[in-house]
Amino acid sequence: MSDCIFCKIANGEIPSNTIFENDDFRVILDLGPATKGHALVLPKKHYADLFEIPADTLAEASKVAKEVAATMKKKLGCDGLNLVQNNGSAAGQTVMHFHLHIIPRYVNDGQHILWKPTSPSPEELVEIKNTILG
Ligand code: 5GP
Ligand code: ZN
Repeated sequence: MSDCIFCKIANGEIPSNTIFENDDFRVILDLGPATKGHALVLPKKHYADLFEIPADTLAEASKVAKEVAATMKKKLGCDGLNLVQNNGSAAGQTVMHFHLHIIPRYVNDGQHILWKPTSPSPEELVEIKNTILG
């Protein structure tokens, strides 16, 4: 993808603050971080999203995230950590190259990554289950 900014960053054509790299992934600091240390796991190959990325590459991305998360806990002393992965503009994806957010969390960091719960009836939940399973 010649016009994809994350392809260029992942493959080193555009400089970034890289905190991990191997043959298949680069992990960079986010330019607009939610918190100190907010990073993005980028596959070097272009996949738009979760629907395109092969399952084994996704598994490798998770392993990379786990390693980086441990480093963040040790070096940044974060109190918690969110893994966030957006797919499609309806879900907040703004860069259409798969990426996994690693967001270290700190007590009273002022961020709100959680959703607002809704209250479906038990019947509605069963209907949704049947739609998924049907
Ligand atoms: P999304 O909303 O697609 O899940 O996340 C895109 C993320 O990429 C945002 O957090 C945004 O700050 C970050 N971002 C966008 N462009 C760049 C860039 O050129 N360099 C870096 N390091 N981060 C970027
Ligand atoms: Zn790309």
